[in-house]
Amino acid sequence: MEQVDFIVVGAGIAGMSAAARLAGHGSVVVCEMEDAPGVHSSGRSAAFAHFDMDAPVVRALTAASMPFFEEPAAHIHPALFIALEGQEAALDRVEANYREWSATVERLSVAEARTLVPVLREGEGGIIGAVLDRAGRKLDAHAMLEGHRKSLSAAGGKLATGAAVTSLRREGGRWLVETAKGAWSARVVINAAGAWVDEVATMAGVTPIGISPLRRTVITFDAPEGLDVSAWPFTKTVGPGFYIEPEGRGRLLACPMDENPTEPCDAQPEEEDIALAAWRVEEATTLQIRRLASKWAGLRSFVPDRRPVAGFHPDAPGFFWLAGQGGFGLQTSPAMALAVEAVATGSEWPEELRAVGVDEAALSPERFASSM
Ligand SMILES: Cc1cc2nc3c(=O)[nH]c(=O)nc-3n(C[C@H](O)[C@H](O)[C@H](O)COP(=O)(O)OP(=O)(O)OC[C@H]3O[C@@H](n4cnc5c(N)ncnc54)[C@H](O)[C@@H]3O)c2cc1C
Repeated sequence: MEQVDFIVVGAGIAGMSAAARLAGHGSVVVCEMEDAPGVHSSGRSAAFAHFDMDAPVVRALTAASMPFFEEPAAHIHPALFIALEGQEAALDRVEANYREWSATVERLSVAEARTLVPVLREGEGGIIGAVLDRAGRKLDAHAMLEGHRKSLSAAGGKLATGAAVTSLRREGGRWLVETAKGAWSARVVINAAGAWVDEVATMAGVTPIGISPLRRTVITFDAPEGLDVSAWPFTKTVGPGFYIEPEGRGRLLACPMDENPTEPCDAQPEEEDIALAAWRVEEATTLQIRRLASKWAGLRSFVPDRRPVAGFHPDAPGFFWLAGQGGFGLQTSPAMALAVEAVATGSEWPEELRAVGVDEAALSPERFASSM
């Protein structure tokens, strides 16, 4: 059994971004059950960073992460938030949330919004107002993961793929991990297993945190013949509805923002959610979706208060939770990795997080101590 300083379970964006940081402090191994990083949630996301998020801590973590998003893992792309009938208050809320963190936000009339996305419908079922942020960030999950893999490897860390953790136990003050690709021991194990974090905890004899994986569906389809949609903003309703975003010149991605509770699994799109995606887009736009180019589903995993978790379990020494990234795991990952680095190595709390008002307690699993 090889001894290392940190074992990370899970090579999604959470595990890989944290591992890349920890590799500057000691030896790291990342154990991933699939043959490559990012096979589950991280590789199935819409990959856009924005502030239309309910929890203030999530918006603050997003703000702290923005300076870390650089080419080729991110580029500036506008984000348009549209209100359907009855969503006026939600539009005001989104605008206020944006104004806290972004100096590039503007309120648009329906006509102005339609100059950006000409297929938006006016009148019944259509939009009644919009907010635009010209400086949104389109992310590239694979480029982000690859950047972390390179940093990890340059610092001497190891990524073990095809290495499902099948046993995790504590002996002599160390965590012992067994996989088909090897066995490691470390004082600190980072549980970054996404939808599977409670399964990993149970394996370790640690009380689960109460993770809820929720399935979300995405479809892609061709834009109307001859229309170049590549400059269209990421366009999202401020309440229930949908979002669409360009996938190159002639293709659009759409999501009905569904949230269906499920077990941790290789999520697959269900027919009714695909139909819902198409229906919601067709209701609010003049687009007609005749044929899908592709479809997929992924899991967004939340803890009960829908805020992310980074910190040691209250009474399982060395067992670190990195969980509950929900629908914001990519856009908060740089800030979350800084938090992991500080807490797991006992270093000073990062200035980047202090500056946005996020302290260690806000992310700590101690907030669930009474149920753990
Ligand atoms: C449709 C959709 C759209 C989204 N849009 C956005 C967006 O626009 N912006 C944004 O920021 N976020 C978005 N998200 C959310 C984002 O994708 C997630 O928050 C993020 O990917 C979670 O990362 P993770 O590393 O925690 O999980 P994952 O990527 O699922 O990684 C967990 C890893 O753990 C591994 N694992 C599990 N059990 C074991 C075991 N026993 N042994 C070894 N390995 C194990 C799994 O194989 C997996 O690779 C979206 C998600 C979905 C589904």
